Amino acid sequence: MSIVGRTTEQFETNAAALLDRFPFQEFRLDYLADPGNAIPQLSAFFQRHTQASFLATCRPVPSGGCLHGSARQELAVLKLAVQAGCQLADLSLESAEELGATALDTLRESGAAVLVSFHDFQRTGDLGAVLDRMRGLNPDAAKIVSTAESLSDSLSMLQFLTHAKNDLPFPLVALAMGEHGALSRILGPRAGSAFTFAAATEAEATAPGQLTAGTLEELYRIRELTPATRLFGVAGDPIHSSLSPLMLNTAFRTTGVDAVYLPLRTGSAEELFRLARELPLDGFSVTMPLKQAVLPFLDEIDPTAAKIGAVNTVRRTPDGRFHGFNTDAAGIVDPLRTRRDLQGARVLILGAGGAARAAVFGCLGQGARVFLHNRTEATARLLAGESGAQVVSRAELASGHFDVLINATPAGMHGNALTLPLEKDDLHAGLVFDLVYNPIETPLLALAKARGIATVPGVEMFVHQGARQFSLWTGEDAPAAI
Ligand code: NAP
Repeated sequence: MSIVGRTTEQFETNAAALLDRFPFQEFRLDYLADPGNAIPQLSAFFQRHTQASFLATCRPVPSGGCLHGSARQELAVLKLAVQAGCQLADLSLESAEELGATALDTLRESGAAVLVSFHDFQRTGDLGAVLDRMRGLNPDAAKIVSTAESLSDSLSMLQFLTHAKNDLPFPLVALAMGEHGALSRILGPRAGSAFTFAAATEAEATAPGQLTAGTLEELYRIRELTPATRLFGVAGDPIHSSLSPLMLNTAFRTTGVDAVYLPLRTGSAEELFRLARELPLDGFSVTMPLKQAVLPFLDEIDPTAAKIGAVNTVRRTPDGRFHGFNTDAAGIVDPLRTRRDLQGARVLILGAGGAARAAVFGCLGQGARVFLHNRTEATARLLAGESGAQVVSRAELASGHFDVLINATPAGMHGNALTLPLEKDDLHAGLVFDLVYNPIETPLLALAKARGIATVPGVEMFVHQGARQFSLWTGEDAPAAI
């Protein structure tokens, strides 16, 4: 756990609040205005908590820290921190090389083990070359941190860790920063990193992309991950606000399935499948912009997914083949079927994009009569031609009555200028399903409720498509209620 503060009092308060759960703490002393003078005040705190382990860091600006001072000043602060009670000191590689091996001896003589650290805030370069520089200094531990510019950089970092740890005389800590680096932070300890770094809160992150300790422990359960843990994830871009990691990791945890579900930010299907082969992943969810782009990379496509022309779920077989599925259609049909029989029902679908396609084929598969209305009529006609649905004009929409209305446009979504997908007076339906789930209660659902019409919130599609994914990957029923 990385602890920051502007004063020693803040350090003590922040650290004390977390010591019970996280008794290994890094004190980022470079965040203090005058660390040299302040550190002796921390001595009593360190002495009071001898059951905990403290790592002192006072990183200079050129190495990515906040200390406006020389390598000698970094060393002097670290020495004071060790004398005050820190058992481990982080000396930047640049300072160690400038000061020579005696700098490490100075800290050891004061009673600490020395971790030499390297940070690259731009890219993931030649990690082996950095490690060779570390070896020459004979540290007690080494830390190599790069910046992931892509998911592949996170993979490179994990592969580096897996190989490097085998013939090293000292423990290695390695990870990649940035949003693309999340994978290396979650799987790093499993790949051989002696430990990883976490923030107390998002606001207190000391490096780009640093996750909170709560996220690493509770959501990704990093202490429980072993080589046997099966890996899954959600691939797409953007994915930072995706709720899928929360949903699928909760499902794995509550059912006791030894698996973890990872955020995989990429816009490249080629990069995704390379990662899936090399990591390897046992399966993944696919979201924008990859639902069609993954098709050429699949060995087999489920007939429903083939009809819809999009895949949102991939399963990797033990012999390394990739099978594509579309659980969006079931995600729409399943919540409707718990409310009514769709056989012969008149279903109006607004929109003709990816979600609408899943709705059209899903409802037709249940024997419904499907009507389509879309802003761009030509797109609706194409989909109608492919599926056997019927296009309705605005006038037909206004005069008709439908058993079910499904909104598959972004109207009503948080931040979208359009609040309703149709005119208020045109709403004539027995049941309204809004696929938009942010917010949970959309203007369309509120309008339907006010008219006494039964409603289905979009979050049910989200949960049901995820539940189907869980079943495809594990062969078990998902804990959908949870
Ligand atoms: P998409 O492929 O981009 O399709 C969007 C559709 O909405 C198109 O038919 C588009 O019409 C229409 N549209 C967009 N802006 C419009 C506007 N201002 N007025 C009228 N029509 C408009 O998107 P998608 O993947 O189908 O997703 C649609 C919505 O479904 C998303 O916004 C999301 O909220 C929801 N969704 C929910 C879940 C879930 O799990 N609950 C899953 C997927 C999607 P044009 O053809 O004229 O462009």
